[in-house]
Amino acid sequence: MLSRENESSRKEITDSEIQLQKALENHEFIVYYQPQYKAIRGHLASAEALARWKKPDGSIGMPYEFIPYMEKSSLICELDWQILHEVCRFLKKRIDANEEVVPIAVNFSRNHLDEDDFASMLCARTDEAQIPHELIHVEITESSLVNDSERIIALVASVRAHGFHVAIDDFGSGLSSLSMVKDVDADILKIDRSLLSGDLNNDKDRIVLESIYDFANRLRLTTVAEGVETREQLGFLRTCGCDLIQGYLFAKPMPEDEFARICSRQATASGMHENDSADILSVQPRSRAMQLLAEVIFKKYPLVIFSNLTRNSYYMMTYDNFTTTSCPPAGVFDELIEHGASSMHPEDQQRFADTFHSSSLLAAYKAGKECVCIVTRQLGDDGISRMVETADCFVKSPDSDDILVITLCQNV
Ligand code: C2E
Ligand code: CA
Ligand code: CA
Repeated sequence: MLSRENESSRKEITDSEIQLQKALENHEFIVYYQPQYKAIRGHLASAEALARWKKPDGSIGMPYEFIPYMEKSSLICELDWQILHEVCRFLKKRIDANEEVVPIAVNFSRNHLDEDDFASMLCARTDEAQIPHELIHVEITESSLVNDSERIIALVASVRAHGFHVAIDDFGSGLSSLSMVKDVDADILKIDRSLLSGDLNNDKDRIVLESIYDFANRLRLTTVAEGVETREQLGFLRTCGCDLIQGYLFAKPMPEDEFARICSRQATASGMHENDSADILSVQPRSRAMQLLAEVIFKKYPLVIFSNLTRNSYYMMTYDNFTTTSCPPAGVFDELIEHGASSMHPEDQQRFADTFHSSSLLAAYKAGKECVCIVTRQLGDDGISRMVETADCFVKSPDSDDILVITLCQNV
């Protein structure tokens, strides 16, 4: 027998369900769109459709006010189909008017796993609206992967076979394992915003994120960072090789007409300052990098160091007639500079360290310099003091925002 308390809470749920059922019948749910931007270049790439309840009094209800109740019944499936319908209507209107469109991600609750013919229903509804399948991304949350893996693998395969893209949502928030992501053959991995929390000053937080992006990139999944709120997070995500950024830093979820304007502008990320993209995009001509490498080969610099300033790392190449016994051949860039400085004449040490510290080099790069070059007195591993010229030449990686440096060292 139900206790009084249970009875009343049961009644509350029932009332909510009835109210939500009515809201669905009256088509009170509308779509807000949250843009997703390319992490490096900042172009609009896609968007996520998020349900909002436009109540009869005109106020807007947020998902936490209705999704949990709907998930207890089949109402959630009906909501998802209504949202898909709205998204298709929006896309069709723009396509017919010859206006820019981008793919839209639609959330599908795990309750759809119980629908035997989910893929064919998806096709039927999208075809009816005359929307190309590649414009719809199907988002399923990570938690659905855990319980019913066989079913989800089959569902994802059938959805993809019809040309839709599939995104695994909220990755890292729950219990799914990396191997589950390997088995579910999705296109897109959305990394949960809980993993981004904080200022990323903690080594462990960074290591976890770097590893997730590394493994996703190696599996050739498109990665989306959710909940990006600060420029520090953006900078870090770029170095992780994250593909797309979704978050308040650039845009909150917005009504259709506002999103339509963004689509039409094909705007660069609203929060991205002109100067930032100019920095990031000051790509060196390919010929310049080739020329540098030719100099390495023909002039035979005894010591050449390849570094990645963004990742604070280096790799050293020496010729047979040159040894650097006291310095490891690969490691952390700033430690290399400390080591280099310590091998210099005492009067030159500070100048060397100040010139080549990664922050100084980044500043020089951003100021538009192609090369930073100084001559110092160095005591080599062989105990002999020489004048050495150290030239750090910047090479912009063509397909990431990593700033690379080729260091050429020679005696003068
Ligand atoms: P979600 O799918 O993870 O959607 C992302 C949520 O993160 C959205 O919340 C979005 O507004 C919020 N968000 C985006 N950027 C930021 C940020 O920078 N900082 C913070 N703090 N939050 C950010 P929203 O719109 O309240 O939706 C909540 C959840 O409700 C969604 O989480 C999704 O699970 C569910 N949902 C929304 N619409 C639908 C739908 O049509 N169908 C289904 N099944 N679920 C939906
Ligand atoms: Ca989602
Ligand atoms: Ca999510």
